[in-house]
Amino acid sequence: MEREVRVRFAPSPTGPLHIGGVRTALYNYLLARKLGGKMLLRIEDTDQNRFVPGAEQYIMDSLRWCGIVIDEGIEQGGPHAPYRQSERKPMYRQYAQQLIDSGHAYYAFDTPEELDAMRARLQAAKVPNPQYNSITRAQMRNSLTLPEDEVKQLLDSDTPYVIRLKVPRKEEIRFNDLIRGWVVVHSSAVDDKVLMKSDGMPTYHLANIVDDHLMEITHVIRGEEWLPSAPLHVLLYRYLGWESTMPQFAHLPLLLKPDGTGKLSKRDGDKLGFPVFPLEFHGTDADGQPTVSSGYRESGYLPEAFINFLAFLGWNPGTQQELFTMDELIEHFSIDRVSKSPARFDQNKVRWYNEQYLRAKPDAELAQYLIHDLEAQGLNVPTDKAVQIAGLVKERATFPADLAKEAQLFFERPTSYDEQVISKKWNAQVATGLAAFAQELPTSSDVTPDGIKALLTRVMEQQGIKLGQVLQALRVAVTGAAAGPDLMAIISILGPQETAERIEAAVSKLAVA
Ligand code: GLU
Repeated sequence: MEREVRVRFAPSPTGPLHIGGVRTALYNYLLARKLGGKMLLRIEDTDQNRFVPGAEQYIMDSLRWCGIVIDEGIEQGGPHAPYRQSERKPMYRQYAQQLIDSGHAYYAFDTPEELDAMRARLQAAKVPNPQYNSITRAQMRNSLTLPEDEVKQLLDSDTPYVIRLKVPRKEEIRFNDLIRGWVVVHSSAVDDKVLMKSDGMPTYHLANIVDDHLMEITHVIRGEEWLPSAPLHVLLYRYLGWESTMPQFAHLPLLLKPDGTGKLSKRDGDKLGFPVFPLEFHGTDADGQPTVSSGYRESGYLPEAFINFLAFLGWNPGTQQELFTMDELIEHFSIDRVSKSPARFDQNKVRWYNEQYLRAKPDAELAQYLIHDLEAQGLNVPTDKAVQIAGLVKERATFPADLAKEAQLFFERPTSYDEQVISKKWNAQVATGLAAFAQELPTSSDVTPDGIKALLTRVMEQQGIKLGQVLQALRVAVTGAAAGPDLMAIISILGPQETAERIEAAVSKLAVA
């Protein structure tokens, strides 16, 4: 029988979730949904020194904002609860014991000083990367080198110890990565990793493998930084007798800074001028002072745009289509099309995505942002007018807050006039023509943009002025600015009376040569 596809996102709550982590969660989610499987959220909090309060909640809130739906996790529960590793502590010990009993792991009693001395000795002997491994373990104080009764006595007297994996000396470890193909590592490059710490807590490696097995995970999709750990994980599956159900690995390409000079890190944050976190995060710095890191949500990004953008950082559908809803991503996603090479973060692209999604929203929905922001300025706008304005100014907006900025011209009369346009286009004839248009406007029966255009054309014909000569001057008279949304639409929304008064004010303020 085919196994049900089960994937997990397994963050450590050591701080806010970085966009690289969101991408990992997204690809897991897309695969789970595509293959009709389950998406788990497991909190890997065995390293209590690195625990950051609020990070766990932050992770869940971020995934929710992104529309990544978790099937099993600490909030949802599920058949393999608990989903927080600190609550699973008693479950790991027996597997470490199983490895000891089968000769694949051992007790190591070395003190921190002894470990330092070993490293110093190896460094002096010009060993480039001193490790506790299949060679050096022979000189250390562990259950492989000490007599059996001494080991027993040390254990009985509660001497602190760790449990280490006994990595074979000469063996090829191979596995087939879904993105990278065959990965072959020689065991001499793998050290005897600690599986259980002296405080009785499992390390990441042991807890991760035990949980992936017990939770029946079929695919491990994670960042490339975990690739070096994968051979060790393969050994653990083998020695625990779980090789036949070992998950398939897929290590995702790195996310690079925009200029390609290295990994985009949590610390890059606001330094680079764009958020690296989905939601704003309130934390503390090394001195305990409060810090705020900006988030996509608070910066005005729409979750659909953010997700669409992230999906393309390392994956592409193989077609020209760039806009994908979550459902479309699910339909088109495949691990085969995830790239091996690193993906560069592109700030302009994420803005572009936001523009596309913002402008595709119904005007009535955009009007709600507008009404909200204008209200905050003490301006009450009727809904039908807000809908008209939103529909007009959205082409100039990247973020929802831009709508209210672009809408200011409807609520404030110009206080100055674009000097370049005035010096080139404003003259006595134009001023007279515009004054005549202002006179006619309030009597006009058709105040649609087309109706206004027709009126303007007629008045200018009577005045003997070409339309092209007055349009820019008219725009500056009405809005003050040289550029902006469609002028006839602006006038239509402003209404004949207000427009006429603005033109008259300009005519009286602007001197003619
Ligand atoms: N807890 C690890 C992390 O923080 C999980 C790595 C994995 O997916 O195996 O990324």
